[in-house]
Amino acid sequence: MAIPQSFIQELLSRVDIVEVVGRYVQLKKGGANFMGLCPFHGEKSPSFSVSPTKQFFHCFGCGKNGNAVGFLMEHTGIGFVEAVKDLAQQAGLQVPEEDVPPQERARAAEQRKKQSTLNEVLHKAAEAYKAQLKHAPRAIDYLKGRGLSGQVAKTFGLGYAPEGWRFLSTVFPDYQSPLLVESGLVITPDDPSGEGGTDAKEGKRYDRFRDRIMFPIRNVKGECIGFGGRVLDQGEPKYLNSPETPVFSKGHELYGLFEARTAIRQAGYVLVTEGYMDVVALAQLGFGNAVATLGTACTPEHVRLLFRFSDAVVFGFDGDAAGRRAARKALEAALPWATDTRSVKFLFLPPEHDPDSFVRTHGPEAFAEAVQQAVPLSRFLLEAAAAGCDLDSHEGRARMSSQAQPLWSALPDGALKRQLLQDLADGVGL
Ligand SMILES: [Zn+2]
Repeated sequence: MAIPQSFIQELLSRVDIVEVVGRYVQLKKGGANFMGLCPFHGEKSPSFSVSPTKQFFHCFGCGKNGNAVGFLMEHTGIGFVEAVKDLAQQAGLQVPEEDVPPQERARAAEQRKKQSTLNEVLHKAAEAYKAQLKHAPRAIDYLKGRGLSGQVAKTFGLGYAPEGWRFLSTVFPDYQSPLLVESGLVITPDDPSGEGGTDAKEGKRYDRFRDRIMFPIRNVKGECIGFGGRVLDQGEPKYLNSPETPVFSKGHELYGLFEARTAIRQAGYVLVTEGYMDVVALAQLGFGNAVATLGTACTPEHVRLLFRFSDAVVFGFDGDAAGRRAARKALEAALPWATDTRSVKFLFLPPEHDPDSFVRTHGPEAFAEAVQQAVPLSRFLLEAAAAGCDLDSHEGRARMSSQAQPLWSALPDGALKRQLLQDLADGVGL
């Protein structure tokens, strides 16, 4: 795909390279420029300079230089087109497509139109749920009981889906519109994900979310793409997500990323948790840099998305067995992206805690301390390789070696990979 040069120029005039680089490199103002430690070669004193006037970076140490697009390509390993799309998305611009057959272009335009229509439908629902929260004392009590302020509820656009089967018919006069089904808001009686033949539905369509706290899920552009709904009492399922739709794919989206962008930059890392409640509660307690996977294991796509916003990722999972399994999945997802300039860590909380309950019990300082002490990827990889192996026996060491192989191979080439090979060789006595 060829992107017109005029568009690249417009894009570069709209983004600020200081902000783009600043997402990954800590920059300090020095004279007319900003200086930092070069992310492309190891150094102890800053020789990496970013010029806001020229919109250019240059390293006096290794000689690397370029504009914002070049920086993203070099730093995140993505291609030119992808880097342009990435920046365009952040700047709210649509990349024009040349060299695309008219049919395909028409199809893509059609798809974008459908997506933006669905976004509008979801946004309208989010506004309605938000308005309902004001008249739902049970829901307000629940949120207050979790220590949430009105301000945090507002930041995350929290709402309430009332009881009853067809609340949304009061929001959307055309309740029979196929858009309501496509957006995942409404279920038809023959939908396999539905609850099936209850009299209350009389064979008619009905709202997916009823009597739940609603967490709108936004994409990185801030558009509403779906919802998570939490029950107020002991009902099941405790958490209910929108289904996969043309605008919502669980394997690609992270809850809270849009809201967390600034805090991620300030904190210098992004914290990945397992649930919306963790994200919202952590934001309330001063950790606005938390995001959550959406009822699915962490995928390589998730990790790639995270590295667009920070070069340090901390996975903070629950301390129980399920949390350990989730961490193991996250390790596998992170390996292909774990270059030498990035940091991936795993925070293991005591078994009785999730991040929310930990901060509540032990306070923000203790949590920040725990993040500091989190297990680096290299150590977790060695632990994962050694799991279930008796290292005092030849068989056990051989088993560790074979368990380590696929994990190690998934790492990108670099110093970390070479170092780990050495560590593994030492570990298995080779
Ligand atoms: Zn350099």
